Amino acid sequence: MNSLTRYERHLILPGVGDEGQQKINSARVLIVGMGGLGSPVALYLAAAGVGTMGLSDFDLVEESNLQRQVIHSMQSIGKPKVESARERINALNPHINVAVHNVKLDSENAVGIIKSYDIIADCSDNFETRYILNEACVLLEKPCIHGSIFEFRGQVSVFCTEEGPCYRCLYPEPPPGRVFGTLGTLPGIIGSIMANETLKLILKAPNLAGRLLLFNAWETNFKELRVEKDENCPICGKNIVT
Ligand SMILES: [Zn+2]
Repeated sequence: MNSLTRYERHLILPGVGDEGQQKINSARVLIVGMGGLGSPVALYLAAAGVGTMGLSDFDLVEESNLQRQVIHSMQSIGKPKVESARERINALNPHINVAVHNVKLDSENAVGIIKSYDIIADCSDNFETRYILNEACVLLEKPCIHGSIFEFRGQVSVFCTEEGPCYRCLYPEPPPGRVFGTLGTLPGIIGSIMANETLKLILKAPNLAGRLLLFNAWETNFKELRVEKDENCPICGKNIVT
């Protein structure tokens, strides 16, 4: 591979260039969840040349996933999602070092899995995993890119930065979860924004920390809310009662 050719459009881009591409090539990103959000995050980060990518999921690919989980294909059905995703990433960019974590992320193993990565992309689909990841990211001081979708709506932010809020500052209590429908393109849009934020964290560019970006796929509009750090947050607040 000639990396000058592969990454040419980055190398000539102000704000990235040779130095930025080297940062991307040496970055270590963990993607938690290889579903609708994890698919575009993994594909775009692999294409951009993120040098080490960890993939965490414990599900097998099912036919009903293919409506939106674009990293997988008909040949992937029945395979572990992390293996299917690894094959696709290797086919796209064989110079990426891919590590697979084919386990359910829980409070026992989260710190061990996360600690060797610089940035975490939370592409999970449930509050339990988001809370566990958030707590581990605060503990280890790892920035966490959050994305989630519900029916026609999606949201993105960056949590657990040095100054910014964490996920529990936004959601002190988990809302009730249930299985829901979603338009197949929505995770592609939200996941692409997550990949965008990941690259900018690597490049130390301005990002969504302290801002929650909301997208409505039915009305096709974006809104933005400020998210403040909560001094009384049970995870990252200064007034933690132990
Ligand atoms: Zn917090």
